[in-house]
Amino acid sequence: MTNANLLNISSKYGSPVYVYDSEKIISQYKRLTKAFKNVENLRLHYAVKALSNLSVLKLFNNLGSGLDTVSIQEVKLGIKAGVDPSKIIYTPNGVSLEELEEAIGLGVQINIDNLVILEQFGTNHPDVPVCIRINPHVMAGGNTNISVGHIDSKFGISIHQMPHVLRIVENTKMHINGVHMHTGSDILDIDVFLHAAEILFEVAENFKDLEFLDFGSGFKVPYHDNDIQTDIDELGKKLSKRFNDFCKSYGRDLTLAFEPGKFLVSEAGFFLVKVNVVKQTTSTVFAQVDSGFNHLIRPMLYGAQHDIINVSHPNRKKRFYSVVGYICETDTFANNKMISEISEGDILAFKNAGAYCQTMASNYNSRFRPAEVLWYKGEAHLIRERETFEDLIKNQKMVEFS
Ligand SMILES: *Cc1c(COP(=O)(O)O)cnc(C)c1O
Repeated sequence: MTNANLLNISSKYGSPVYVYDSEKIISQYKRLTKAFKNVENLRLHYAVKALSNLSVLKLFNNLGSGLDTVSIQEVKLGIKAGVDPSKIIYTPNGVSLEELEEAIGLGVQINIDNLVILEQFGTNHPDVPVCIRINPHVMAGGNTNISVGHIDSKFGISIHQMPHVLRIVENTKMHINGVHMHTGSDILDIDVFLHAAEILFEVAENFKDLEFLDFGSGFKVPYHDNDIQTDIDELGKKLSKRFNDFCKSYGRDLTLAFEPGKFLVSEAGFFLVKVNVVKQTTSTVFAQVDSGFNHLIRPMLYGAQHDIINVSHPNRKKRFYSVVGYICETDTFANNKMISEISEGDILAFKNAGAYCQTMASNYNSRFRPAEVLWYKGEAHLIRERETFEDLIKNQKMVEFS
């Protein structure tokens, strides 16, 4: 997408607005499938929580992707978008048996991540095949909030509890059709990932009727020029070979599954905001924009550094700015960022705004959540309208005080 495309979108749909480039989504999907072309049965389950707009889910369905879901509502969004329930995997954490039973009713693949529920599930539904999520206790990823495979993590069934798992399976005669791990975001070291994969293979040998092995996600994407990222091609080469060897020794062709969110949509997204005020203080120059952590929480929550470009004036001399929002709380997007000189009224674009931006947006300060636009075949499609005052009050009830 060009700066001119982005400017046109902001003038047509207003700011702030999230924009997603479907070409980039498609090319990332193809890049990953190509890296694993030597695996006979590959299945990608796009992780809905990264970006859950129905049109985006429909685009993934058209590409042949399945979905990875973490709530019953995400399951329903997927079905609403036209995805076949058999291609949806449901991987909740700490939900009730009732919610899992609702998911059984919807016909999706269930993935269980604790022993208590596994035992209840096996006792009540021995005929429904389930996948188990194991925790290989391998540390991947830089930020402890997004690294979920380590020893203290609440996710998955510890590999040290395998004897207990096997006893539950034997006692309940339940049917395990998949084994899963997801060690968290931002994998840089492929050898660490392959080490975790070995643990998954070892666990898999305990089950005779597997259909798939799910290696989760966590691929790191570049945020800046020259940023390091997961080498997908190398991972594809090494893991494919190891996976094919495993299938031979296992005696059956299994499906290799991944469930990437960030990798597929992060770089496709631009979050467009308008500069309301350029404020010179004794220590810095603030560019104050018409948004805040209510719309883009990743810098405050994870310390994420999104590149910011001045799409109105991309070619001016660069200056240092602190880019901040307009909500009444510290909402710093970036400090000391070199940006092409900003005038009031300029449109700035935050890059890497496809994953975990809109889906984490809130109404804090009673602001509206922004519109979303999908760029598809050279045209802008409005895929979510900006909220209105009606949306803010529609579920509220006024008490009749006496
Ligand atoms: C969040 C999540 C993903 C996606 O992670 P990314 O880092 O966005 O690729 C995949 N699987 C599960 C179970 C998740 O919770």
